[in-house]
Formats: sequence, C-alpha cells, structure tokens
Amino acid sequence: TQANLVAVLSARNTLDPNIKKTGLRQQHDLVLFISDQAHYSYVSAANVLGLGVQNIIRVKSDELGRMDTEALEFAIQTAIKENKTPLFIGATAGTTVLGAFDSIEEIANIASKYNLWLHIDGAFGGSALLSNSYNSLLAGSELADSFSWDAHKMMGVPVPCSVILTRNSGVLFDTCTTTDDKET
Ligand SMILES: *Cc1c(COP(=O)(O)O)cnc(C)c1O
Repeated sequence: TQANLVAVLSARNTLDPNIKKTGLRQQHDLVLFISDQAHYSYVSAANVLGLGVQNIIRVKSDELGRMDTEALEFAIQTAIKENKTPLFIGATAGTTVLGAFDSIEEIANIASKYNLWLHIDGAFGGSALLSNSYNSLLAGSELADSFSWDAHKMMGVPVPCSVILTRNSGVLFDTCTTTDDKET
C-alpha cells in the first residue's frame, strides 16, 4: 500500500515537478488506469495525493483476471478526448484474488505510446522473478518506471516488508524528499 502510494507520487511529481511546490491546481485532472482486479491501495493513494478517486479508471479484465489491453488503450483515448491527462498505468503481477499476471510487454507498449508512467504492483507475484521456471510471467518488467514488491506475501516474511524500485536513479530523491528549504 505504501509502495503503490510512493509510485503514484513519483509519477505525479515527475509529470509536473511544480506540484510538489505549489500543490495540485484545478486544471490538473490526472488519470490513473488500473484493472478491475487491481488492489484497493490505489484508491487510497488517489485520495491521499489529492488526485480524486473518480480519476481512477478500472479497466476490465479477461476471464483469467488479466487487464484487457484493448480496453486500456480505449480508456486512455477516451480520457484524452475528455481533456484529462493520463498519468499512470498500474499493471499487476499477481492479483490478490486470482493471482493473475497482466501482460507487461503489451501494457509497456501502450505506456510508451501515450507517455504514461508504468508501475508494476508485484506485491504478491513479484517474487516469481526469483524463479527460473516462472520469471517469464514478468517479462518486460524492466520496462516499468517503478515496481513494488512485498516480502511478507509469497516469501513468508512475518513482518510487513515492502520494496519500491524505480528504473531511473534519483526519482525517489527528487519526487519524495522534502526539507524546510523553500526551493524543495
Ligand atoms: C497485498 C497486496 C497489496 C498490499 O500490500 P501491503 O504491503 O500488505 O499493504 C498490494 N497489491 C497487491 C497485488 C497485493 O496482493
């Protein structure tokens, strides 16, 4: 939950570094795209970050619980037509209920085409990267801007232990650090 919050914060402040300084202004209607199987932590993130929970679009999933990528692209185009700013795609590697893995490579193509932040919620299924038999389920994950992983899920660590990784170094420092300095 915390890692997904930091991912959305990083996406928001990377898109517009001024937001950290000035706060969100009315003209921003930043939209998040997640599947209808994605974890509810994104709702909390949209609330905490002032993006508005209505700006989360839940894209339908297929019979195995994987995000429907055609529906994703259509939803992005619809948001653009409505003069909103698509910000973030949250792909899930291992959904909480069905254990589904979204097709990361297909979603990464769409993220790059429309210039959206790609986050992978690997809280549950990210551990499959450690398996030679199952790591192909996360093929393309190196294309993500950020990745969250929980050691207290499949790894069985008995206390909450979450990791957030970013593709580019400096992102967490630039987007999350705050000091008393007016410039930051
Ligand atoms: C459990 C889970 C979360 C939330 O993880 P916590 O770190 O326990 O808050 C987020 N996403 C998915 C897919 C999960 O299964």
